[in-house]
Amino acid sequence: MRKIGIDIDGVICIIPNIFRKFLRYRFFRELVRYLIVIPQFRQFYDYYLREVNVEIKRFISYLQENGWEIHIISANYEGYRRELEKWLKRNKIYYDKMFLYSSSTHKNAKDWKAYICKKLNVDYFVDDVSAFVRAVEKKTKTKTILYRRQKFEELIKMIK
Ligand SMILES: [Mg+2]
Repeated sequence: MRKIGIDIDGVICIIPNIFRKFLRYRFFRELVRYLIVIPQFRQFYDYYLREVNVEIKRFISYLQENGWEIHIISANYEGYRRELEKWLKRNKIYYDKMFLYSSSTHKNAKDWKAYICKKLNVDYFVDDVSAFVRAVEKKTKTKTILYRRQKFEELIKMIK
């Protein structure tokens, strides 16, 4: 059985275009960084500002239909598990297991992502952060896909 590890933020979910426009302003980015640690804002963010990426949703459905094992590997903290599970369910995203970052075992998320890929022995790993992709390439035999808004058809070609 083939396995894939896939990131959430910037891959399975993307921020709506309108919000992305705001993020061009430094003031707005700073504000979000400050607010995101407040649980109520985080809930608002999860509910309204996370948009499902239809290309990735289609890609995941394809993988599931073709017998792949799908693992979500996200640097979100364990404390967000319930929110994320709800969001994934609401958006009908299939997955086998979700791995969330714990800073108690690894001091940085990139080593942790590489560790999970190795442990699960995933064939492919998809992430939008090049540092994560590089860490996985360096420390595992997993093939990687740096996610740059590729469409479904392109993604399918990449795993063949
Ligand atoms: Mg990401």
